Amino acid sequence: MKFALVDDIRAQATKGAKAICPNCGSEVIAKCGDVKVHHWAHKSMRNCDPWWENETEWHRAWKNYFPVDWQDRIHYDELTGEKHIADLKTEHGLVIEFQHSFLNAEERGKREDFYKYMVWVVDATRLKKDLTRFIKGKNGFRSYNDKASMFAIDYREDSFPFIWIDSDKPVIFDFKGMEENNDPDLAWRESLFILFPKTNVRESIVAEIKREIFINGVITGSLFKHREKDKKETPLPSPPIQKALGTSVRQSQYILQRGKFVKSSRW
Ligand SMILES: [Zn+2]
Repeated sequence: MKFALVDDIRAQATKGAKAICPNCGSEVIAKCGDVKVHHWAHKSMRNCDPWWENETEWHRAWKNYFPVDWQDRIHYDELTGEKHIADLKTEHGLVIEFQHSFLNAEERGKREDFYKYMVWVVDATRLKKDLTRFIKGKNGFRSYNDKASMFAIDYREDSFPFIWIDSDKPVIFDFKGMEENNDPDLAWRESLFILFPKTNVRESIVAEIKREIFINGVITGSLFKHREKDKKETPLPSPPIQKALGTSVRQSQYILQRGKFVKSSRW
């Protein structure tokens, strides 16, 4: 985990530090080695959240585009009592899960059912064949509604990894990841590609979007707007432990500073 509670305040791991897990309340210790990203680890178990994925530099780079208050937020289902640590939860209620490792379709579906109002950002550089498939599939993209950055495709599996093609949520593919891009033919990797959920049996829609526009759209809430239908199904309460500690996300405003969004000092 990136954050745990030190004296009831969310803090990042520093050498030798101890803290309390905001999810289960047990003690966690700082792991600040040279190989993995610095993180908090439970003493006696892998992680109290079975959905937790060990973080890579890629996860951290993505999270850091967004306000720290939105990172590692506990999402709580008041009806069932189930809770999980979302990689990112915006002040608009949108959950973003950054997925690097393999996830089978069943597990993917469970997370989508739980978070409901969510999108995925997928590290599409983990397997070389994912890039090769996409390069081939991309040649078959047809323009959609005369928009330069919208495409229609017939066979989702021709362009995207199998486990994502039946997703109910928008899936954003990052084909660049942490890699340098020196090949002008692959300049499109600077963009992100959004695969939208199927709306009809015939074709699917893919959008190409610049990273900055995606990040900005998530921050302002202009992208992936909450539909009324989801709102009714999805109460977005803060879990009790956070309420008690007074650390739930409050209404705040963020400003762009040297390419990153930080909380304005006026708030
Ligand atoms: Zn825990």
